[in-house]
Amino acid sequence: DVVTISTKSKTYPMYIGSGIIDQLPQLIKDTCKTVSNILVISDETVAQRYLEQVMVLLKTDFKNSYSFVIPAGEAAKSFEMYYQCQTFALSRGLDRSSLILALGGGVVGDLAGFVAATFMRGIPFIQLPTTLLAHDSAVGGKVAINHDLGKNMIGAFHQPNAVLYEIDFMKTLPLKELRSGFAEVIKHGLIGDREFYHWLIREVKTLSDLNKEKLQYAVLKGVSVKAKVVSEDEQEKGLRAILNFGHTLGHAIEAELGYGEITHGDAIAIGMIYALRLSEEIFNFDLSSSSIAASFKRFGFPVTVPQELPPEKLLQRMKMDKKATSGKVKMILLKDIGKAVIKDVDDKQLLLLLEKSYEKA
Ligand code: NAD
Ligand code: ZN
Repeated sequence: DVVTISTKSKTYPMYIGSGIIDQLPQLIKDTCKTVSNILVISDETVAQRYLEQVMVLLKTDFKNSYSFVIPAGEAAKSFEMYYQCQTFALSRGLDRSSLILALGGGVVGDLAGFVAATFMRGIPFIQLPTTLLAHDSAVGGKVAINHDLGKNMIGAFHQPNAVLYEIDFMKTLPLKELRSGFAEVIKHGLIGDREFYHWLIREVKTLSDLNKEKLQYAVLKGVSVKAKVVSEDEQEKGLRAILNFGHTLGHAIEAELGYGEITHGDAIAIGMIYALRLSEEIFNFDLSSSSIAASFKRFGFPVTVPQELPPEKLLQRMKMDKKATSGKVKMILLKDIGKAVIKDVDDKQLLLLLEKSYEKA
């Protein structure tokens, strides 16, 4: 399958399939002008499994191919790793016609993308996502590293030249990571594709139902929603904010618990249930949030707010959200399955529903 992502700054393809990694050299030739040398950035875990395969593929056509491996995990989205990547690139003689390949999940994609965005004022890069979550992060051109004072605070918009999504890479993904990415897949259905959402709920009862075929279809449909949103609003001036469905509370939970204490997907699953209930209250419309919560539980997601997080603290965090303007929290709500809207919501209403969102003792 192929999805075309068209933004103001660039139009590029995303290939999705099983056994398609072999087409990488051709993809590079098709989507990049003369390539002098290539730097593959990956993390330890992914490198151990797939780096050699990729380097062998590159060897015949691209003599000067190098790889740089970072530690696995969120902590690698740092100034230190960013600097090390740049140092490596400079010392290997990368120049303006060099190409960076990001082989890994969202961490590698965000870091390598930011390196590419800023190396000699910007060189091309190609995303080779290896997590389900990265079906989301590899598309759309947001690249960043973290600052001690905030996640993703230092970054750029830099679209890749292409995205190659090898379904076979998913077979080694731990269940917890699969579930984390699956939350973003569901999100895409909920905000933009009602039919796809119903397909998901019908065809995937538990995560073990996600065979290669279903995974490929889910990635295709999920990315299609993202591609549509991003093509209309590349730099998040308006519509793109709907991709943040479930994230206002989700980010607050992640930040309060401490990053790494809960996966991104688990946190936004709680956030999506909350946003659904809020939507029902505000629009006085039945979205069957209880049955959605039941499906989420079947997938293994938490659906209630962790007991140790006080509602006032979470609200305070929600007000620090990038979407908040003059102290008002902007929430992404659903008017229906597949139809997202952005709305200012009063603190009082947010707090009242938060208080009802904990596991009953
Ligand atoms: P990740 O990149 O840390 O990957 C999760 C874990 O899985 C890591 O330990 C990794 O080594 C391992 N892994 C990756 N692929 C594997 C494979 N095929 N087999 C076995 N293990 C594998 O995390 P992630 O969930 O992919 O991405 C999270 C990051 O993405 C966050 O930093 C987040 O901010 C970012 N993100 C960015 C965007 C965007 O638009 N740029 C969107 C969403 C998330
Ligand atoms: Zn997300």
